[in-house]
Formats: sequence, structure tokens, C-alpha cells
Amino acid sequence: MDKSETESFEYQSVTTLKGVGPAVAEKLEKLEIYTLQDILFHLPLRYEDRTRVVPLGSLRAGQQVLVEGVIEHSEMKYTGKGRRSLLCHLSDNTGAITLRFFHFNKTQQQHLSRGNRLRCFGETRFGLNRLEMVHPEYKVVRADMEVEQSLTPVYPKTDGVHQSLLKKLSDQVLQKMQQDSLPDWLPPAVMEEYDFPVLASALSSVHRPAGNTRPEQLETANSRAQQRLIFEELLAHQLSLQLSRQKIRRQRAVALLVAKNFIPGFEKMLGFKLTQAQERVIAEIFADLGREQPMLRLVQGDVGSGKTAVAAAAALAATANGRQVAIMAPTEILAEQHLLNFSRWFGCENCLLLTGRDKGKQRQQKLAMIAQGEVPVIIGTHALFQDEVVFSDLALLVVDEQHRFGVHQRLALREKGRNGNTVPHQLIMTATPIPRSLAMTAYADLDYSVIDELPAGRKPVTTVVVSGSRREEVITRIKNACEKGEQAYWVCTLVEESEFLQCQAAEDTAEKLDRELKNLRVALVHGRMKQEEKQAVVERFKNREIDLLVATTVIEVGVDVPNASLMVIENAERLGLAQLHQLRGRVGRGGRQSACVLMYQPPLSENGKQRLAILRETGDGFRIAQKDLELRGPGEVLGTKQTGLMQMRIADIVRDEHWFEAVKQAAQFILEQHPETVRPLVRRWLGKADRFVNV
Ligand code: ADP
Ligand code: MG
Repeated sequence: MDKSETESFEYQSVTTLKGVGPAVAEKLEKLEIYTLQDILFHLPLRYEDRTRVVPLGSLRAGQQVLVEGVIEHSEMKYTGKGRRSLLCHLSDNTGAITLRFFHFNKTQQQHLSRGNRLRCFGETRFGLNRLEMVHPEYKVVRADMEVEQSLTPVYPKTDGVHQSLLKKLSDQVLQKMQQDSLPDWLPPAVMEEYDFPVLASALSSVHRPAGNTRPEQLETANSRAQQRLIFEELLAHQLSLQLSRQKIRRQRAVALLVAKNFIPGFEKMLGFKLTQAQERVIAEIFADLGREQPMLRLVQGDVGSGKTAVAAAAALAATANGRQVAIMAPTEILAEQHLLNFSRWFGCENCLLLTGRDKGKQRQQKLAMIAQGEVPVIIGTHALFQDEVVFSDLALLVVDEQHRFGVHQRLALREKGRNGNTVPHQLIMTATPIPRSLAMTAYADLDYSVIDELPAGRKPVTTVVVSGSRREEVITRIKNACEKGEQAYWVCTLVEESEFLQCQAAEDTAEKLDRELKNLRVALVHGRMKQEEKQAVVERFKNREIDLLVATTVIEVGVDVPNASLMVIENAERLGLAQLHQLRGRVGRGGRQSACVLMYQPPLSENGKQRLAILRETGDGFRIAQKDLELRGPGEVLGTKQTGLMQMRIADIVRDEHWFEAVKQAAQFILEQHPETVRPLVRRWLGKADRFVNV
């Protein structure tokens, strides 16, 4: 911490505030609030309007409002299981509502008795025959009771810290801010360009909106004050990622050089011609690998775009330079599939598979081979993360289907294979198209390539959405297709907590389908089968010894059987759009017209209808991902819900996407012209969450 940071008021400890003793300070620490600045940037999540009393006659359901009235009568109701509730009928001269309480003591019961005048704050909902409020906050009205002067801020989840305490503390800090000025780190040029209000006034009006502000005005986050803070928060995130990027660039890596006429020989090895997109991305990767700085590149390509071949080219660059490459896959099936492909290309003796299933002696043997550099191509699942895995000479890490691994793991991986200041190159591949907004936030520290072309001859998959009540028709469809020599998948998607139950359900489905489709060869593959069994089934399916493969979502990635042209997904409404798109990518890999049947369990919710309709309308992974993001939020899409990476204080990466370009430019400008403001800006907004700066 430099001197200026300790002197300015905003870096003072919260313990300098009235009402903060050691116990409170400890609670605040859990919210990552340590300094006065942390209080200022603990921004309200929403607002409650306690500035006016709403006449009972004008209420609608679903409103959060302040009301006032006289209790006409009060009655105790007993429900079946010995539970009781207290109903109070409140009226004013315009109308009436019911207040419903489940927990109450004697004193409260007295407050809630007939003739008392109450002021309540709560949410209205439909009751039996009129609107009601369940457990509103209430006060018995005295003659001189005033309403609040401005909207009441509601602060985010507070783990045992009361809203009232946060309000008192922020009152004190806001007042201090008026006396000691708070440094504004946005350069004047940026302030002018967007006509932003100064920081102190923006913070004041977000914490304590002006008296005449309506909550609806703040909901859309359109005020200048909100917009300024949103901009600054996005900027802080961008800067933090840029810093991390600079740090990575300062590390060293071994340059991997590739022969000039690499492509023709490589195509010969693969047995097909690369698409233009593949060739372009391989060239981008080779340019990176040729430097003595670690590559950190994300390759995005829709399902079936041929990412494996691109990974193989990178792997060849490592092995041709006599070094090791590790390829990490999220599932065993996918890892096995990679082993198969890479063994064909690099030779069996040069490839090794390490998964969680390797135990005891076999595992020790494999670890020794990796450590002694006896094998150049190491393929594995997250088992590769474990401490005991030590590489002899790792020059490149390939992470396939990155969305399945958390961001933390990605950062941890960077450390694998470190040798002093030298780290391996990293190639990260994903089929989950990352909407631009996420690419520019969560992945701003990576370089980025897109394989935006599918191998020639692919036909788009026709998708239909049908109700589970039409199962018979679907069965007939499978029968017809398979009798013509096609092959089909039946995917069971149960949201059972237990993998065991899921697999059991898939077994039941397979048995049933086997009975219903007498002339077809039906087989089953699921996550609890042994590695060899799974592999054997997939192999038989590939060799056309099986017509219908019943599977759990284990086949989502990695199974590659071009002759399969029909996929039925049961209970499709239960899966995320990206996952459905990924599953659907298992068909349409050959030259044949393929189809995907999304079967749902009626009734389908409005949201469910919309979601499935998107898949029917488009095969464009980007559009699907964008919708997925809108419908499910970034945490789910990135698989980083727990890491809090995308939990912003006021910005919303979907709603505020229009700012991204400007934010990126401002970040560049600040890094060049005002580097001294970067650190305080990042610290202000990311606080301890600024994990990127410290990697
Ligand atoms: P994904 O991008 O989904 O990982 P894969 O690498 O599994 O895709 O490739 C899908 C299929 O397309 C595989 O059968 C692969 O052999 C084939 N493939 C990849 N690139 C080409 C190409 N340029 N021409 C023809 N087939 C290709
Ligand atoms: Mg793949």
C-alpha cells in the first residue's frame, strides 16, 4: 500500500465509525467490508418506496408498498396440522386488505387487535377473496408519524448484518465524503466524453436517491449516476484483466517452431483437407507458439467444427520440438475418444491416458512415465490436476471443452508445468459459443480465435419439438430410420441428484425401448459403466453393430459417429440450451440429413416453450448462447456461479453490453496515459475479489 492510499479517508478502517466494535467489524469482514471505501461501494441492490402511503383501494397484486388502515376485525384460523394463523382485516376509506401472520406472540397479538391503526410495509398478493400481505412489517400509528423522505436502499445479502446498520454506516461515510473529497479516478477526458457526474455525487444519489425519485426510474439503471458507476465498474474489471494479461506476458515460455510446409503432411496424417477456418486458426496458434512468451489462446468453434484437428496441430508442434503436451478433457468418454484419435495420428506408444480410474500400480507406472518423459502426448481428465502428476518437460497444455472446467481451474492449470519463470503454452478450446459480452469480460485476458466454418458437406440438423404424449410416433420414426440403415441416439436426461438413480432410469428406458423395437439392436451407455465397457459400446455403435444407443448425457461431448442421424432427447426442457445444442451436435456429422427430436413432458412453461423454440429455429451456436445467457445468467453459462467472478455490484453484463466497446477504449487510454489510477480503480471495485492481479 503506498502512502497516499493510507492517508486518504476512504482507506480508513470501518472501526473508526460509530457503532463498529470488534464484533460488528468481524461481521462486516464476511461481506469483505474493511474500509470506509468498501462501505461506499457496497451499493444498494434495489429500493423500497416508503415515501408515501398508498390507498388500499388502488392496490394491485405484486406491489411492494406502504399502506395504512384501521383493523376492522382480527381472527385466529386453525389449519389442519395444528398450525394457526392470525388474519387481520385492514381498511381505509378507499378499500381493504387482509394481513396474514403465522408467527406472533402475545404483545404482537395485542398490536394486531381490532380498532388499532397500523402502518404496514410489505408485498401484496392474491388472497382468497381479496388482496393480502403475508407478514408485513408494521407499526401501530401514532399521531405524529412521518413517511421517509427518500427511497429506502436495500443492500445485497448481508449475512447477519442488518439493513439498518448498513444504512447507519453508509450515512456516516456519505457525510464524511462531503467533507473530505473522494478521489475521482476517471480521467477528465472520459468524464467529458460521456458527460458523467462526479463520483461523490453519483454515489450519494445511488445510496440516497433524491426525494422525488420513483423506484421504477432506478430499476432500469438509466440515471446518469447509475450509468457512471456501471461504466466505472466495467472499466475496473477490464483493467484488472488487462493487468493479469500483462503479467502473463512477462512470463517466459519455450518457443516451439514448426516446419514451413507443415500443412500438407498434416492433412495426409488426418486423412482430410482442413477447412479454411481451421488453417487460419492453426496459423494463429503457430505464430503464438513461435514466441518465447506463453500463448494463452481460446479457440472457439461450434460443435463439429473440427477443434480436435486444430489441437492435434498444436500438439505436433510440441512433440516435433521434443517436448510434452497435455490434453485435458472434462469427461472420460471424451478423453478416451481423444486417446483413440491421437493414437492413430501420433502412434500408440507416444500416447498415454490418465484418468481417475487409474489406481495403484498402473497409476504409479503412468505417473513415472510422465515424470521421466517417456511419453510425449498425455491425455487425461481433471486427474491431470493432481499434485502427484509431475511432467518432465511440458511445453503445451490443451484444455478441451473449457466451459466444463471453472475459471479457477484454468488459473491453476497455468501453474502446472511451471519451471522457474517458464510456463507452458495454453490452448483452450470451447464449443460453448461465448457471447461477445462474456468474451470481453470473463475472457479478456485471453487471445481469441474462432473456427467459424463447418467441414464441407454438413447439412443443418432439422429439429422438432414434440410432447411426450407423442412417444409412439417418435418410436415409429426411429424404427423407420434404422430400417433404412441409419443409426439413432436416445438421450435420457433426468435431473436426479444421484448418478446412480440416473443410470438406473436409463437402464429402464433401454429395456423398454428394446421391447418396443424388437427388430433393432438397442444398447446402453452411462456414466457408471466401466471404462472398457463404455468404450466397447461406443465402438460397437461406431461399427454399426448397434442401431439405437440409449445414453445419459455422458455422450454430450466426444462421441463421434458420423452415420448416426437421429437423436431423441427425452425431457429436453430440463437441460440448458447450450447443453442441448452440444448434444444435438452428435448428429449431422455425416453427409446425411439428420434430425433431432426434443421431447418434453407437458405442460411446458412459457419460458420452456421459448427455449425449445430457439433450438428449433437456429443451429447457430452464438445465437443460442446469447439466448441462454439472457435466460439463465452468466454464472450458469460460464459454470462460475460459485466463484463470484461475474457478480458485479451495479453493472449487468447482459443489460450493459452497449458500454463494452467504450469501456475497452477507456481502459486502453488509462493504461497508456494514466497508469497510476489503475490500481486504485481496481481495488475500489474488485477489492479482495481481484484475484487476477495476483495470479
Ligand atoms: P469438435 O469441434 O466438435 O470437437 P471434432 O474435432 O470432433 O469437432 O470433429 C468433428 C468431426 O469432423 C470428426 O469426425 C472429424 O474427424 C471431422 N472433421 C474435422 N475437420 C474436418 C475437415 N476439415 N474435413 C472433414 N472432416 C473433418
Ligand atoms: Mg471436441
